[in-house]
Amino acid sequence: MNKGLFVTFEGIDGSGKTTQVNELIRRLAKEGIPYLLYREPGGTDIGEKIRDILLDKNHSSMLPITELLLYSASRYQLTVNSILPALNKGKVVICDRFYDSTTAYQGYGRGIDLDFIHRLNCVATKSLKPDLTFILDISLEERKNRLGEKVLDRLEQENLEFHKRVRKGFIQMANHEPERMVLIDGNRSVIEQSKEIWNYFKNLKDKKEK
Ligand code: ADP
Repeated sequence: MNKGLFVTFEGIDGSGKTTQVNELIRRLAKEGIPYLLYREPGGTDIGEKIRDILLDKNHSSMLPITELLLYSASRYQLTVNSILPALNKGKVVICDRFYDSTTAYQGYGRGIDLDFIHRLNCVATKSLKPDLTFILDISLEERKNRLGEKVLDRLEQENLEFHKRVRKGFIQMANHEPERMVLIDGNRSVIEQSKEIWNYFKNLKDKKEK
């Protein structure tokens, strides 16, 4: 068992992950709690190159299993090179997306067999599980408003039905694993959400230190 604390943020794009990650790290810095921040796909030199391949809009012919394996490759690199060593040193590690995104996007979204995805996720993470996962949930209408004129990447520009399946997947996952996953109503103000997230984080940190 690692000594650190591993916290991940999940949700459809536009749900406020980056915003809430930034709120959390601001608070951590203020409290003098050392942390490391990563994002997926990416977070390592190799992972960032895989990210470019995955998100490139010109790669419309990418097959679902190719996509799944690329995400998993990036994740393995990040987990072994960065996340596990940091957790073993007792650090707080924050990650913007982790394997739950694969379950939601490649599983619920693309329709790849969920058992297969689960097994691959275990390989890609060396069976590492986050201590706490926040799933930020917004409606598809809110997503449309927030993304506005943003230039969308390959995944973001998928059709509405795809994103509906992904959202539903995240909600189902949160219901199945309530001890790890917290469903956050992302339609509220940034401050309201960040307070709730901080309370969950602080409770877990205090509990782990006892
Ligand atoms: P993600 O990282 O999940 O794609 P972002 O944090 O980038 O989401 O947020 C997407 C957009 O929505 C940004 O323009 C951000 O400023 C805005 N946003 C984030 N949280 C809220 C909120 N609670 N209310 C309104 N707008 C928000």
